[in-house]
Amino acid sequence: MSLRIEVLSGLGAKAPAAILVEAEGRRLLLDAGGALYPGQSMAWAEGLDVDAVLISHDHFDHIGGVSALPAELPLYCTPSVAAALPHGREWRALPERGQCRIAGIPVITGQAGHSLGGVWLHLDIEGGVFYSGDACRESLLFPFDEPPAARVALLDASYGRYDTPQAQCREAIARRLCEPRVLPVPVSGRALEMALWLDAEAGRLGVSWNLDHFCRAGLEALLRLPSALRREGHDAVIRRLLGASRTDSPMLWLVEDRDDDPQDWPEHRLLHTGYLTLRRQRQRAAGELDWQRWNVHLRLSHLRALVRQLGAEQVIPLFTTEVREVNDSLMAEEPALSEEGSDAAG
Ligand SMILES: [Zn+2]
Repeated sequence: MSLRIEVLSGLGAKAPAAILVEAEGRRLLLDAGGALYPGQSMAWAEGLDVDAVLISHDHFDHIGGVSALPAELPLYCTPSVAAALPHGREWRALPERGQCRIAGIPVITGQAGHSLGGVWLHLDIEGGVFYSGDACRESLLFPFDEPPAARVALLDASYGRYDTPQAQCREAIARRLCEPRVLPVPVSGRALEMALWLDAEAGRLGVSWNLDHFCRAGLEALLRLPSALRREGHDAVIRRLLGASRTDSPMLWLVEDRDDDPQDWPEHRLLHTGYLTLRRQRQRAAGELDWQRWNVHLRLSHLRALVRQLGAEQVIPLFTTEVREVNDSLMAEEPALSEEGSDAAG
């Protein structure tokens, strides 16, 4: 028995996710991420030789590299994630919460709390290998399933040592909603829970709001999923929210995150709540847009709780420049809290 893990991409930076796990003579690729900005390296896909690829969720930095893989390579993902695959790409179903065998390796999946149909992966080899994909324990909508024990943990540490609770993030966003705003958001993730929250918040503030048809379609897709894949108690609100008539010129817009520039919205000011590309970091520095995080990744306290729960002996913090600092913090007895972390990480 032997286990070899190689993070092909995603270690030491916010970068496309691609992790090679080799065990018992089989090689699995966990995620096939695409570049987050033009020019970002995709060298991980060159000369790749694996038996199968497993996709955790449909965000571009986890699925966008599929087009660089051989079309005949077996690909596993959940049905909702499959909708984001290149047209015609064949795929096999990964359970949203359950067990299967892939290339002879036993795999357990559970909800990762980050996006529509997104899962974490647990490989039952050599004491267990857990890969969180992108994960969050604070979502209003998406549940986070407790994983089984694992000796090795590959964890979403996109926020580094940042540890601000979501309630504080929401308060900070709410304070910025008193002027016309556009909030660009990823449709399969944050958009859906922000729609719920914004509906309540706009009502409290007495201001109009609307969502574009992409966000609307995302909410409709959410309602079509088995109800066990979303937290309880929101379905009636979502149906009412979708049925309400809304103005075409609202004070607050929730829109799919494309490449909106400040000049595209002359009447509104952009408020980003997630990952900022370099171009957007420059726009923010120039005072052209605003940014306030809405948590969609694991923060430090939650990383610590997860490591304890897994009983992990080896932790590999992914998608962060603070690998050593996060590891040191996870090993420390007392929490070493930071309110800031990296602004660039969504
Ligand atoms: Zn993601």
